[in-house]
Amino acid sequence: MKVLVIGSGGREHSLVWKIAQSPLVSKIFCAPGNPGISELAECINITADQTDRLCEFAVKENIDLTVVGPEAPLVDGIVDVFSKYKLKVFGPDKKAAILEDSKVFSKCLLKKHGIPTADFKCFDDYQYARRYVSSKGAPIVVKADGLSKGKGVFVCNTNDEALQALDSIMKDKVFGNAGNQVVIEECLTGEEISLLAFTDGRNIVAMESSQDHKTVFDGDKGPNTGGMGAYSPVPIMTDELYLLIEKEILVRTVHAMNRAGRPYKGIIYIGLMITSSGPMVLEFNVRFGDPEAQVLLSRMKSDIVPIMLATITGKLDMIDLEWYPQASVCVVMASGGYPGSYDNGKEITGLDVLKNQEGISVFHAGTKSANGKIITNGGRVLNVVACGEDIEDAQKKVYDAVSKISFDGAHYRRDIASKAIATPGPSNI
Ligand code: AMP
Repeated sequence: MKVLVIGSGGREHSLVWKIAQSPLVSKIFCAPGNPGISELAECINITADQTDRLCEFAVKENIDLTVVGPEAPLVDGIVDVFSKYKLKVFGPDKKAAILEDSKVFSKCLLKKHGIPTADFKCFDDYQYARRYVSSKGAPIVVKADGLSKGKGVFVCNTNDEALQALDSIMKDKVFGNAGNQVVIEECLTGEEISLLAFTDGRNIVAMESSQDHKTVFDGDKGPNTGGMGAYSPVPIMTDELYLLIEKEILVRTVHAMNRAGRPYKGIIYIGLMITSSGPMVLEFNVRFGDPEAQVLLSRMKSDIVPIMLATITGKLDMIDLEWYPQASVCVVMASGGYPGSYDNGKEITGLDVLKNQEGISVFHAGTKSANGKIITNGGRVLNVVACGEDIEDAQKKVYDAVSKISFDGAHYRRDIASKAIATPGPSNI
């Protein structure tokens, strides 16, 4: 089989790495890819937003399966275009991808179907939104409706912060039209878990639990980023909780999408807060998380290609998903200044030392080749992943690996997965 993976980040590198292990696959292309991916796939010079060119390429090369990594092409309807040409493509169509494209849509869907989530109100009027914030008071959460690269959510501890968030979203339009509407919601407290599942719209195959670290600094401080690290499994995810989330949230959401006339196929990602009154939905994504993909795919034992094909053809009931028992931890190494402004072009050293080291993977994100060297070319630069006997072992191994890599200004969190070690539970193997 020939497979095309669309995207250029750490998530796509881990997808290519996993797909390359499938005996069904003879050739992988990646558009546009990155220097790490180019060691496993042929990178082609087409960006993820060039749907027509990607489709032309897939037709010309007789691609048997296209896997879309990022959300933006899904929201733009790449699956609809590929499907017109009878190309097999993994991911939800445009109608279904609204689940991530609009927080207003997803919150209203949850409310309509009684699926647990934080209390909220939606606004398209700046003044009304301001008045609501003042009447409710902090702590309060302000969210841009549309896609904002993981940076459109503001958890505000004071009224001023919330009003500032409204200013940047609705007045300064820092996220463009994604800020035409906002969701203002109750601030929940509890532990966070991500649960991802494959679904063909009828059958659901849930994955193991994972947890990402969104804020830039240790101790969950500072602004949200695209993700600074992740680990799997999550100790607080007991079998009981897993079944509850599956029954009360996952299955009901997939059915709700069917009833909304938006049948969902692909990966459904549910971000959850485990509150004292039970699990509540924080967000949906319509694809693998980044860096959750890196930790999940490192633990996935089954061949992912038949699962993706079964998702497309509606045969997920035939799939039995197997996992390695090890834990995995991913640490993101970012450019100095990220998530604010940063410089590119810093030489990265130490990558060779980690090549072929058992249980360690370095997935590239913002990197570029120049004159035989690998240099930084983005905010999140590298994803270092280690597998270990348990979370503690994986954490030790991952930080040992991170210490071997350097580039000017590199910064990373020192506490990825520490929370999991502090809260031992049944899945802390
Ligand atoms: P989201 O992109 O909606 O998952 O939000 C990003 C992060 O903001 C989440 O991972 C949470 O840490 C935090 N967050 C989102 N919604 C809430 C909420 N209602 N209460 C508390 N924290 C939240």
